[in-house]
Amino acid sequence: MLTNNSHCVAEHTHCAVILYVIKQALRRGRVPQLRQNIITGEWVVITPERSQRPHDFKIPSSHKNESGTEKPCVFCVGSPAYQTRIHTYESNIIYVIPNKYPAFVENPEYCSMRSKIDPSGFYTTMPSVGGHDVVIVKDHDCDIYSFSTGIWTELFLMTKRRYEHWRENRTCDYSMMIYNHGVPAGASIDHPHAQTFASNIIPSYIIKEIKGSKKYYNSHKSCVYCDLIVYEQKQKVRIVAENDLFFACTFYAARFPYEVWVLPKHHQSHFDSEGQRTLIELAQIMHVVFEKIGKTLNNPPLNFYIHDSPTRDGEKNYYHWHIEITPRLSHYGGYEIESEVVIDVQSPENAAEYLNS
Ligand SMILES: [Zn+2]
Ligand SMILES: [Zn+2]
Ligand SMILES: [Zn+2]
Repeated sequence: MLTNNSHCVAEHTHCAVILYVIKQALRRGRVPQLRQNIITGEWVVITPERSQRPHDFKIPSSHKNESGTEKPCVFCVGSPAYQTRIHTYESNIIYVIPNKYPAFVENPEYCSMRSKIDPSGFYTTMPSVGGHDVVIVKDHDCDIYSFSTGIWTELFLMTKRRYEHWRENRTCDYSMMIYNHGVPAGASIDHPHAQTFASNIIPSYIIKEIKGSKKYYNSHKSCVYCDLIVYEQKQKVRIVAENDLFFACTFYAARFPYEVWVLPKHHQSHFDSEGQRTLIELAQIMHVVFEKIGKTLNNPPLNFYIHDSPTRDGEKNYYHWHIEITPRLSHYGGYEIESEVVIDVQSPENAAEYLNS
């Protein structure tokens, strides 16, 4: 049996090993960090440990290796990744692992060391603090278009628990759950999985949404998202699905063809304030929306994201959490990327018509 003293010694040795690994990584310049664009003020996460050589940037085309045989899946139950699971976040349907190449890291010691990387003072650098998980659906053979409402519910309940965990982490300013389906949407592994990012920055796009929502609230004295739902219910030209607690429609100024938004009908700033009954209703509407997208567009590559209030903010009357679903049917060209003005080739009204036919 370990005495208190021997326990301390063991812990100290463990810390010393971690510190050694960190110092080695620092020496090789292989630790992620946040760098600020000195002109626009936007943040970039540099994760050099992920890709080092030009051929590492090649897009993986399939699950098969060069001889055409199947590679063992890296996320299936029993894989080395499964062995790294966080045991308190495992259910019959889902398990959670820390991302092997995190964009934001939880170990405070690791982070405090990284803040010393750029001593010049010309550029602004911050440690990339927070967390980065992979939330993995155990069943390899299902995909986002065949998730049952049970899988959807479990996915959202697990995400809520991870958000609650990040909220307790004092270094976290923003949590974002994202899902990539298909190689063109950024998924390099076929096995169904979501990711949650917990960052010490608020993403630029969310800052724009908050600023715009506040401005709308100040001039209309109401929440723009609540008003949008009421307006779309009256217009009836962009509705995709609806149930007791949620509303789904194509977005009037869509950035992507067939972009669909899913919003709670009640005003709520934070996703993780929602209870189980609400998340079951969310699961039901997602099941319906994905059935429509899958059927209409032949299971396209796609992303979806939860847009939420910043972690440290209390309940706000101007911001309303929601989900944006963005099928990846076309690529952005130079104009879209550089001007941030999107040319969407599909009208949202026609998209809704097709999705409902
Ligand atoms: Zn698998
Ligand atoms: Zn609202
Ligand atoms: Zn949004």
